[in-house]
Amino acid sequence: MQLIDLHAQQQQIKDKIDQRIQNVLHHGQFIMGPEVQQLEQLLSEYVGMKHCITCGNGTDALQLALMSQNIGQGDIVFTTNFSFFATAEVIKLVGATPWFVDTDSETYNICPAALETAIRQCQAEFPGKARAVIAVDLFGLPADYPEIQKTCYEHGLFLIEDAAQSFGASLHAQKASSFGDIACTSFFPAKPLGCYGDGGAVFTNDDETADTLRSLRVHGKGANKYDNVRVGLNSRLDTLQAAILLEKTVILDDEREQRNLNANFLNSELSHEFHVPVIEEKVNSAFSQYTLRSKVSDRNTVIEKLTRNNIPCAIYYDKTLSQQPAMEQSLRGEVVNSVRSAEEVFSIPVHAYLTEKELNLIVRALRQ
Ligand SMILES: *Cc1c(COP(=O)(O)O)cnc(C)c1O
Repeated sequence: MQLIDLHAQQQQIKDKIDQRIQNVLHHGQFIMGPEVQQLEQLLSEYVGMKHCITCGNGTDALQLALMSQNIGQGDIVFTTNFSFFATAEVIKLVGATPWFVDTDSETYNICPAALETAIRQCQAEFPGKARAVIAVDLFGLPADYPEIQKTCYEHGLFLIEDAAQSFGASLHAQKASSFGDIACTSFFPAKPLGCYGDGGAVFTNDDETADTLRSLRVHGKGANKYDNVRVGLNSRLDTLQAAILLEKTVILDDEREQRNLNANFLNSELSHEFHVPVIEEKVNSAFSQYTLRSKVSDRNTVIEKLTRNNIPCAIYYDKTLSQQPAMEQSLRGEVVNSVRSAEEVFSIPVHAYLTEKELNLIVRALRQ
């Protein structure tokens, strides 16, 4: 059993991927080849954003988003205290200061009420410094965008959606990667839409922002690539990765639906002994991870049991962002929920290629 079974996935589509790779080898346009434009068109239509700008990876996507708004030295950016390190790293990279906001203890996403409190506190202590919010769709579940968007709008803050874990998910039938002023995603192999290397994308509806992003990903190019109008990055998606992603998008929805079926089954079997993921009518999670907490045992005991039964599991994340040594110079308010989550959560397989037998094995081991 695998936590995420990319091998089983590849078996389904190997011949078609081989063909796509051969096509790229044949035409030889390895940088910004036709598959890149094809993919950008397809993904922008899929999520319902006017522009898709692919790039080197999900971290660059977030950095490009901040750079496109000239966010840097002296600025404050609010984000969740419970995410992968890259979410906070990019804020520091551009020279701004992260302000970590506590999470909801059931969804693990940024708590809108805590965000509101943080913004007010920031306005009192550092007037005019707050610039943006990066909300994360953790474990594939879209954050509470109706509330977050309202708060950002009221306070004039720019909203960035970190949809690295949620590509394909939706909230009120609106797709993840379409909620922020800018949305960012990652095509790291284990993400819901993964390539066979690094990759990422930025989405926006704003034409001017899209032009800036296209410039920033190629050394801040102007009218042509040897005319540099700003300092940018070298961050393009390889044509080979775009070709692979074109094939992966074909199975994206079916895989997500299967993960949702698996999650529903696990929820129904495990909810007595565990705090299981939130599943609501209005949301279709990408279920990039199935993450739970025991109501009765400590995490080490549960993980030991799983390991003895050869069931893979992982802890995302055993430290909050504000607890990371690299984030010592940062701001935060009360963060009790996120700290407690980091102490208690663990993730188990939910991938689309689990057999009924494997699902039952997981349930039996956990119930013991
Ligand atoms: C994976 C991930 C990223 C970074 O994506 P990369 O492609 O690995 O650079 C950013 N944010 C979150 C929430 C992630 O899970």
